[in-house]
Amino acid sequence: MSRTLVTGGAGFLCSSLCDRLLQDGHDLLCVDNFYTGSKRNIAHLIGNPYFELMRHDVTFPLYVEVDRLFNPACPASPVHYQNDPVQTTKTSVHGAINMLGLAKRRGARIPQASTSEVYGDPEIHPQEESYWGRVNPIGVRSCHDEGKRCAETLCFDYHRQHALDIKVVRIFNPYGPRMQPNDGRVVSNFIVQALRGEDITIYGDGSQTRSFCYVDDLIEAMVRTMETGPEFTGPANIGNPSQFTIRELAEKVVSLVGGRSRLLFQSLPSDDPRQRQPDIALAREALGGWQPTVPLDDGLRHTIAYFRELLHA
Ligand code: NAD
Ligand code: UDP
Ligand code: UDP
Repeated sequence: MSRTLVTGGAGFLCSSLCDRLLQDGHDLLCVDNFYTGSKRNIAHLIGNPYFELMRHDVTFPLYVEVDRLFNPACPASPVHYQNDPVQTTKTSVHGAINMLGLAKRRGARIPQASTSEVYGDPEIHPQEESYWGRVNPIGVRSCHDEGKRCAETLCFDYHRQHALDIKVVRIFNPYGPRMQPNDGRVVSNFIVQALRGEDITIYGDGSQTRSFCYVDDLIEAMVRTMETGPEFTGPANIGNPSQFTIRELAEKVVSLVGGRSRLLFQSLPSDDPRQRQPDIALAREALGGWQPTVPLDDGLRHTIAYFRELLHA
């Protein structure tokens, strides 16, 4: 039985990863400081003899005996990562150093969750891994973008210097059940607003694009990543290449929820990327033909049903 550590395991994405790894027979340690995560996301796992929960902040050293570790601990929503930007950089950088140190001591395999934000506001479209990005080093998003870029650097230096079995995956705009109602990302904001009959807050004119990936598709990619051999280091984009404008997303949500919400246009936050779309050819090849299977409309229906129940709306 593989002893596996998941950092940030009480968060939106990684609580589902915990479910999947337990189903697949892992002996699991979930570490979280509950900054954006929620005990509700993992409450159903308490009592499972193969699930252990530890409140811990990855910016501090951690000495545990595991064979594999996923390191996605980091707030992902711009609202939350900008709330305490110094802590965000510490989480990405000190967190990566500690987890890489742990992996080095244990000889453990370490997939690192990176992000599409390493491309910043990209000039090439769709984004391939060979593109180095266009990131503002001193802007309000830099704590997350540069923090994750530095974490990637650390992964590749531990790989070159200490032969660590690293795997870097760049996640593109995931959504789905277990997002927090106050998460602040666009999909949860729009759904919560529509369910409450409030106006839908579009930042800018809504012509900026994103490519949204349903949580189940990403978890499948993360699990397959863990099973690749040491020759696969990434970085690899994982996401859904179907691209939508934010206005199209708003209109879809309003029509699926069926309320009377109107579109309310507000100012665009600084450094907001104009377009984002993953090229997933590399992941498709390395991960045994993996590709997303859940279209946006279906994923939105599942996510709306989740929030409807959560909010009793
Ligand atoms: P989330 O905020 O729901 O989950 C992050 C988890 O990490 C939370 O449970 C939080 O409490 C925990 N955490 C934060 N700081 C910590 C620390 N110092 N020590 C221990 N735990 C800590 O976000 P998510 O959507 O589940 O994101 C997971 C990962 O995926 C992140 O690494 C994120 O950067 C990446 N991601 C990228 C994008 C993108 O498109 N740009 C989008 C989503 C996620
Ligand atoms: N570390 C950790 N758990 C371990 C091993 C190391 O948290 O099981 C931390 C340790 O605090 C160290 C960091 O990981 O600061 C980097 O470890 P590494 O061995 O690369 O560096 P060194 O200890 O030589 O500074
Ligand atoms: N956005 C929006 N309304 C909201 C929240 C976000 O129009 O209530 C926009 C945001 O400006 C960005 C896009 O939606 O252009 C995606 O934002 P999100 O915070 O989900 O993630 P990002 O991809 O920017 O990290």
